[in-house]
Amino acid sequence: MPDAAQTTARFSDLHGGEPSGVWSAPGRVNLIGEHTDYNGGLALPIALTQRTRAAVRLREDGLLRVTSDISDDPVEVAVADVDEQRPGGWASYVAGVLWSFGRQGHPVPGADVHVSSDVPVGAGLSSSAAIECAVAAGLDDLLGVGLLADDAGRARLASWCQDAENTIAGAQTGGMDQAISLRGQEAHAALIDCRSGEVEQVPFDLAGHDLALLVVDTKAQHELNDGQYAVRRATCEAAARTLGVGTLREVPVSGLDEALGRLEDDESRARVRHVVMEIDRVERCVAALRGDDYAQVGRLFVASHASLRDDYEVSCLELDVAVDAALAAGALGARMTGGGFGGSAIALVPAGSVDAVTAAVEAAFAERGLHAPACFAVTAGPPAGRDA
Ligand code: ADP
Ligand code: MG
Repeated sequence: MPDAAQTTARFSDLHGGEPSGVWSAPGRVNLIGEHTDYNGGLALPIALTQRTRAAVRLREDGLLRVTSDISDDPVEVAVADVDEQRPGGWASYVAGVLWSFGRQGHPVPGADVHVSSDVPVGAGLSSSAAIECAVAAGLDDLLGVGLLADDAGRARLASWCQDAENTIAGAQTGGMDQAISLRGQEAHAALIDCRSGEVEQVPFDLAGHDLALLVVDTKAQHELNDGQYAVRRATCEAAARTLGVGTLREVPVSGLDEALGRLEDDESRARVRHVVMEIDRVERCVAALRGDDYAQVGRLFVASHASLRDDYEVSCLELDVAVDAALAAGALGARMTGGGFGGSAIALVPAGSVDAVTAAVEAAFAERGLHAPACFAVTAGPPAGRDA
């Protein structure tokens, strides 16, 4: 990825002078626990070594000026004017974080920001949280807020970033992405309890087991994405009301059949079944990781994908092709990851099979005339912090 020196140089070209520092934050891939976060459930993401860097310098004139490697045009907006409409577009992910700091009693007097990233944008690997968390890390340091210093502080910063994404960028996401970007640990997955906000580190030692985690970025982005996400959320919330619970987290697996019997329609039943079983699969996956049973981890991936495809109906042709091809080529398990309708799939594969599985997935896409995917192995990297 562009290193801190390159990000600094680009900042100087586009803004003049030197930034006060460079901060970065990782993208993520969720191992299991999909569409559970907004149901108060469990998720198990890893932070990636792919990161977004933000070179930041405060200004005193109330202006925010943002540039990114993906867009040559600087975006300028008065910090006081930032809202749901302004600045709009990609810069709202940066502006939203300044807005959040202000809302929390830490007004930002203005800033110059340059963003560079090697997190694929829109691939379901959370480039949006990476940009927010990198900027938040910078502001936390420069304003002397000090929240980066410990996990409790990082949890607060994560909620500010989520607020920015929900309110200013207008994306109704749960809190998983920001939590892992700020609170993940190298060589660990993070068990995120989206009800309590607690994060527990779970060893994720691929190399020690001669395994690799392959990401297949399908490059597909189906338009249904946003609307369907909102519909799924609404269905879950309505089902929770019918069942008399705050969130579907409160429905135990042992009580699932009884709960399903109280729902009116097959569609709600299928959605609830996914959520309740998926939360259970996260718990079983954590137990399997702690017990070094990676074959079981693979089986849980397969079950999760089937549930997302058949019960939650958020998969798509590209994701199914990626999963099926990876399994046929010897993956221990594979599943879609992220919200669905495109984005990425993951496959747990023997380290020696990365090339063979990649070739098989590419061939399966070519055979169906699908846009070529990007396949790359990932590991669990460190959380957001200061680079320079
Ligand atoms: P994901 O988070 O899965 O990558 P999203 O749709 O949530 O997908 O977020 C992608 C959006 O985040 C982009 O469309 C853009 O607005 C913003 N973004 C992410 N990374 C960058 C970047 N490096 N530079 C500018 N904008 C970015
Ligand atoms: Mg995102």
